[in-house]
Order: sequence, then C-alpha cells, then structure tokens
Amino acid sequence: MEKALQQFLSDHCHKTIEEASDREIYEALLWIAKEKMKGIRPNEGKRKLYYISAEFLIGKLLSNNLINLGLFDETRQVLESHGKSLTKIEEVEPEPSLGNGGLGRLAACFLDSIANLGLCGDGVGLNYHEGLFKQTFADNKQKEEKNPWITPESWLTRTNVQFQVPFKDFTLTSVMYDIDVPGYEQGCNKLHLFDIDTIDESIICDGINFDKTNISKNLTLFLYPDDSDEAGRILRIYQQYFMVSNGAQLILKEAKERGCTDLAKLNEYAAVQINDTHPSMVIPELIRLLTQEGIPEETAIETVSRTCAYTNHTILAEALEKWPMDYLEKTVPHLLPIIRDLDARVREKYSDSRVYIIDDENRVHMAHMDIHYGYAVNGVAALHTRILEESELKPFYEIYPEKFNNKTNGITFRRWLTHCNYPLAQYIESLIGSGYKKDASKLEKLLDFIDDKNVLSTLRKIKKNAKIQLKEYLQSTQNVEINENSIFDIQIKRLHEYKRQQMNALYAIYKYKQIKAGHLPKRPLTMIFGAKAAPAYTTAKDIIHLILCLSQIVNSDPQVSPWLKIVMVENYNVTKAEKLIPACDISEQISLASKEASGTGNMKFMLNGAVTLGTEDGANVEIHSLVGDENIYIFGASSQKVIDLYNTGAYNSRVIYDKDDMIRDLVDFIIGKEMILTGDPVCLVRLYREIVNKDWFMTLLDVKDYIRTKEQMLNDYEDETGWAKKSLINIAKAGYFSSDRTIEEYNRDIWHLA
Ligand SMILES: *Cc1c(COP(=O)(O)O)cnc(C)c1O
Repeated sequence: MEKALQQFLSDHCHKTIEEASDREIYEALLWIAKEKMKGIRPNEGKRKLYYISAEFLIGKLLSNNLINLGLFDETRQVLESHGKSLTKIEEVEPEPSLGNGGLGRLAACFLDSIANLGLCGDGVGLNYHEGLFKQTFADNKQKEEKNPWITPESWLTRTNVQFQVPFKDFTLTSVMYDIDVPGYEQGCNKLHLFDIDTIDESIICDGINFDKTNISKNLTLFLYPDDSDEAGRILRIYQQYFMVSNGAQLILKEAKERGCTDLAKLNEYAAVQINDTHPSMVIPELIRLLTQEGIPEETAIETVSRTCAYTNHTILAEALEKWPMDYLEKTVPHLLPIIRDLDARVREKYSDSRVYIIDDENRVHMAHMDIHYGYAVNGVAALHTRILEESELKPFYEIYPEKFNNKTNGITFRRWLTHCNYPLAQYIESLIGSGYKKDASKLEKLLDFIDDKNVLSTLRKIKKNAKIQLKEYLQSTQNVEINENSIFDIQIKRLHEYKRQQMNALYAIYKYKQIKAGHLPKRPLTMIFGAKAAPAYTTAKDIIHLILCLSQIVNSDPQVSPWLKIVMVENYNVTKAEKLIPACDISEQISLASKEASGTGNMKFMLNGAVTLGTEDGANVEIHSLVGDENIYIFGASSQKVIDLYNTGAYNSRVIYDKDDMIRDLVDFIIGKEMILTGDPVCLVRLYREIVNKDWFMTLLDVKDYIRTKEQMLNDYEDETGWAKKSLINIAKAGYFSSDRTIEEYNRDIWHLA
C-alpha cells in the first residue's frame, strides 16, 4: 500500500505522502482501491440474485472497501506513520445520498453481506444525481437543499451497457453505472445504477423545486420527488418503470450470456428480490419481455412467478403503494393489458375482493401483485411477519401459507463495528480473537468476561473516548458544547409520528421543568436527535420545530444547561450515524408497538454497547429475548393492545389529556409562553392540536410509562459496574443481528443460489 500510494502521489501530484493534501490522498486511495477491485474475479453461480431497490444508502465507501480488500489496517498504519489520519481523509469523500432510511441502509448492508458470503448477486437501482435532499436548519425549521454527490472522481464506473426504455410518448436510452462491492477474501459483486445522459441539474430552482414534467431532464435528479401533486406521482412512476425495465433487460441479457438458451427457464438463472413495492412493476415488465421473446403468456407468468420474491417493510397502510390505472395509462400503457390479465386470473380463482390486484377504484395494489406472482413473501422481524400473517395480509396468508416467511433484518458488522468503532473492534479481537468476524455468534465468548473488572473498565474507557470524539465533532460541526461525563441519550432515525420523537420531546419538557423546579438529576443528560422529515409531511416538520425550539430554550438557560442539553444533529445520514452510535449510552427505540417493522438502528446501537430503551416492537422483541429483562428497558402498551385499540377505535388522546394533570402540563408547554416567544406559533399550535385531538400514534398512551422507565435507567446508570455488564451483554448477544446471518437465511429459504 505504501509503495502504491507514494507512486500515485509522485506521478500525479509530484508530492510525498507528507506533502499531499487529504484530498490528494483520498483520490489516490480511491484509484488504488478501484484498480484492485478491477482485478478481483466476480462471484459466480448458475442462479444469480438481483436485489432491486429504489434505495441503496451505502454511505461513504473508502474505509469499507479497504476493510473488504484487507487493506484497512495497513492503510491506517501507513498514513499514521506519515502524519496523516484516515478519518480526516475520509471527510473529503461525499456521502452518496441514494437512500432515505432503514430500507435503503438494509439494501446496502445486504450487498455487503452477499459479497462477503461469496454469493453471486448484484444490486439494481437508480443513479439519483441529487439523491435525497440535504437538511439544514434555519429559524428552528428544516430547510431542504439539493445534495449533489457525484464528483469527477468517484466510485461510479460508467459501463457501455445501454437499454431502450419505452414510455407512452417517448423512449429513453439508459446508461448503466457500476459501483464495485468487494467481499472480504471473496469475489466482487456490483451495484448497477441506471441513469440517462440528458439529466439537467440547472432546472432545479430554489431549494429542491424543479419542473416535474420534463422527464428527460429530471428523471434521475432526486430520490422520492415530492408526490403531493399529480406531476410528482407520475414522475415516481416514470422512475420506477425506468428502474425495473432496465433491471429486467439486464437480467435477460445476462441470463442469455450465462447460457440460458430457453428463457422459460429464466428462474434457473435469476432470482429477483423486490425490496418493498417500488420495484413491483418488474413482474409485468419481465412477463412483457418474455412474451416478446416468443414465450407464451401462460408460461411467461409461471416463469416470472418462480423468479421474483417480495420483501414487505411496513404495515403502515399509507406506505403500501396503489397506483391509479389512469396514471399508468399515461406513462406505461403497454403494461396495462398484462396487469389486467394478472388481475383477471386472480378474480377467476378467488372471490375475496381483498386479494384483487385492481380495486374498485381502479387502483393497482402493487403488493398484491407481488404476493400473487412472486414465490416468496417475507417480513423483516418476527413480530412484523406475525402481524402480516395474522392481520395485515391475512387473506393472502390463507391462500399461500407456504410463501410467507420471516427474515429478521441485520447489519454489516464491517461497517457498524470494525469501521465505525475501531477501538472497540480491536479490543474485542484482543479478548476473543478474530473468529467473530466470520461467525458473529462467536461474540458470545465475551460473556466469559462478565465479572472481569479490567474488561468492564476498559469497555467504559472505550465508550468515554467515543463520547469525547463525538463532543469534538459536534463542537466543530455545529458549534455546540456537550459534556462527555453526561449520559448520552440518542434517537436518530427518520422523523415519523409512529417513531414518536414527539414523546421523547415531552420527556425533555418533563426534565426541563424538573430542573427548573430544583429537582436536579444525579448526572447531566445529553439528549441527541437526528432526523429528516419528508418535505411535505407537516406534522413531522412541526416536531422538528418543537425539538429545535426546546434545544434553544434548554441550552440557553443557565440554570438548566449544566444538567440538560438537547442537540439536533443537522442532516442525519450514514456518516453521522457512524459517529453517533459508538458514543451512545441509551438507544431510543420507542415506536408505537406494532408499527416499526424491524428497525436496524436498534441493532447498531446494541452492537456498540448501548442499552436499549424501547417498546416491544420490531426487532426490539428479539433483542429483548436475547439479552433478557435485566439488560434492556421495555415500556409501553403491547402490540396486541395497540392493534385492539385501532380495531375498536377506543383510543382518545383528549380524554387522557383532560384527565391527567401531569400529561396536560407537558403538552401545554408546547404552546406555553417560552415556546411561543421562541418559535413559530402556527407550527406549535398545529402540533399541540394534533397531539390533543388526534395523536394517531398514541404518544399520550405511553408517555408516563416512558418517563418512569427512562428515569429508572438514568438511576441504574450510576451503578458503573452494573451498567458496564449490561453493555457487555448487549455486545455479546448482537451476533444474531449480523446481516451475514440474514443473508444466509435468504439464500437458504428463498434464493437458493448455488
Ligand atoms: C440505520 C439507519 C437508519 C435506520 O434507523 P432506524 O432506527 O432503524 O429507523 C436510518 N438512517 C440511517 C442513516 C441509518 O444508518
């Protein structure tokens, strides 16, 4: 590595490593890694997986690629010996903003694990030039800006693969870009990102607004363009079809190249995983292309049904896509006869209108198409899959019990431990060896040290150092001062009412009032939030406004701020997550039970020694059963209770508000004089009314139990040894959540790659 680096820098910049800037070194390392990856054989197998997803939240790639190329330790050392820091150099790399949240991050973890297990499988997605918006704060509100990430030197490689993608009024010529996905001591896979050459960034006017009708200029500008008007929704269909048509054409092309002479046997050469419903049109598109190749329609449908499998990520009804037929008519009319036929076949067999593909409002239920014409359907955590089977998708489960299966999500430990918390990874290795890197269940060996005072105190030191690093990072990026001796309580995830950041904000109000009343805590508390709100989601933006106003009030109050700090991290993304997670003491996973399909943030925190404060929801349920009651803090109504409340319509937040003085006090603070003086009364009153009159995700149901449990947790933190033991047990039991385990299960039960 040292030689290659010196060579590159001397050839291209006439500099030594010492003389080179961080940018020059970054570009050198990028080039060296790309060259190295070119030389790695692709993973091969007869059946190849295509993981199609609207999002791949891959994060920065330099360190991860170095890890998987086996060059990480060496590079760090070489750089250090020349007075350079890999962490600093990484700052130069822009984070590709190709994803929105958990679903996109999952896709990225999966690509990493697929490559690391040596499986033959590529990702298929879109090359959004501006990705998801970049979040800034002004006047205590979220502002959206474009987020360009594609620089002249990047991990993207333009290929000469091009396809014609037909729409109603025009045909677009695509171009495929590739990002290498190397596995550790394994072959290399690819992430294929499709694009067009005519994209025009200059049509973006203030913020993230642009002409939504100019498809040849805007198609791959943004991930999830605003869909609050028809033009936005139509643009999403253009994007989705463009993605799947390219994917389908690539699949057929590669199958033929790999020896598939009879396309009726496509399923022997390809497996397609449909990540949520955005890629669902791949089913009719593959059928269309197969019939074009001369396969009879009946056979084409059968073949595709043996090729495609569907992952469901949510039970929130509003997130299950239903496209009006007339939108499809305006964009991709050639799919309509196929979709109508698929629906007719369903109607012929089943009389239950709940399983029809086209409903009586002439809308296409994408998930229904996936379930009927895919061979597997999976949820992403045990509880989630059970809810799908027993309620959300019950009529389908009754028809196809054999298709349903659970695949509890996972995370790649290479990014979420080795890379983001190197000192902890090194220490674990010094205790139990490196075997856990290939078999994460070996982390359990750490349990041997549960009574070892030295180990517990070293773990505390590692945590403390991570907190100091985060303190320095927040100081330099957001100019806030936090106290490394305080408890770090962190809630970072997309902003959504079901995730209940508003309940955590009510806790902040509680704590503020306590301190104001002279009830000082045993130790200062730092509450950290990070969350983007969808640009058109008013309540979510009002919650951000609430948190930012609270942070201004609390942090500027000389009586309160030594004891309580509230920080909202700007533009939460993978890079920020990597800095926040190692420093966390309390992991906030407080969604309304039954609403969080899995969560993966919860797993990252656990792996880094944080203790979970959570509801019995998503993968929290599995964390709970792994670590036991003593090592997690569970509160709130059960998922069954919540489901019953929805079914009977019995929940009424106004009744709780009227009856409970303490709760009313907290909620009233939102429109109290401090807040109204600090913030925008329109937003604050609107949010107040939302909580009092609707509170769809039942904040007031759980808030008291939440406060009580969090107070207990803060108390327990004072038992240093006891807390360090909880932390160690969480790390030791995290092995189950390695995405290597998840991918082995997908392969064993769904993909069957050779
Ligand atoms: C892991 C991750 C998520 C998902 O977090 P949840 O808490 O599971 O919702 C979202 N965004 C980023 C940047 C992540 O790294």
